[in-house]
Amino acid sequence: MDEADSRPDATRRSFLLKAAGLGVAAAFAGAAVGAGPALAEPNMHAGWRTCQKCLCLFYWGFSDSGQCPKDFGTHQSGNSPFYRLPWGGGWTPNDQPDWRCCHLCLRIFFAGYLSWANCTLARSHRISSPFPFNYVLPHDFPQPPGYQANWRYCTTCQTLFYSGHAWQGVCKYGAPHQAAGYNFVIPVN
Ligand SMILES: [Zn+2]
Ligand SMILES: [Zn+2]
Ligand SMILES: [Zn+2]
Repeated sequence: MDEADSRPDATRRSFLLKAAGLGVAAAFAGAAVGAGPALAEPNMHAGWRTCQKCLCLFYWGFSDSGQCPKDFGTHQSGNSPFYRLPWGGGWTPNDQPDWRCCHLCLRIFFAGYLSWANCTLARSHRISSPFPFNYVLPHDFPQPPGYQANWRYCTTCQTLFYSGHAWQGVCKYGAPHQAAGYNFVIPVN
């Protein structure tokens, strides 16, 4: 265990939602999806966006947008669309559970391995987050309308980042993310 839980920034979150259009009900309620493996699991968590600095998916709905590995400031959504993450349910050939929200960086990361190293700074990802969700991400199927493919797992920081550009974003220590494994297909507005 590191000392992160005793640091002021581990408990400072006000839990204020940023936009009237993203109230608690909207952030936590189910949202219909059109197709794909996640259709069998209707629970969806809205309010996720791409950071223009690191290319990771981060939770945008708080007044504080977490910590970005590029400059240790907050993530920046820019003109990113809004994404929704399915939660609940188990493994299928096209769904991977054990993705969680880190309360330090507010990114989604794969928590299925023993090591959660490489959040930002010298810390490990932490999941004493306000979200109890075990996210289940759909992967490896043709991209239907309302979804975006080319989201990948980074072997260094264990987060989910957009790999569809030549530029692979900014990981810990300023290096690009290293894509591996599934090609995730994420519901997007
Ligand atoms: Zn970022
Ligand atoms: Zn983290
Ligand atoms: Zn990375």
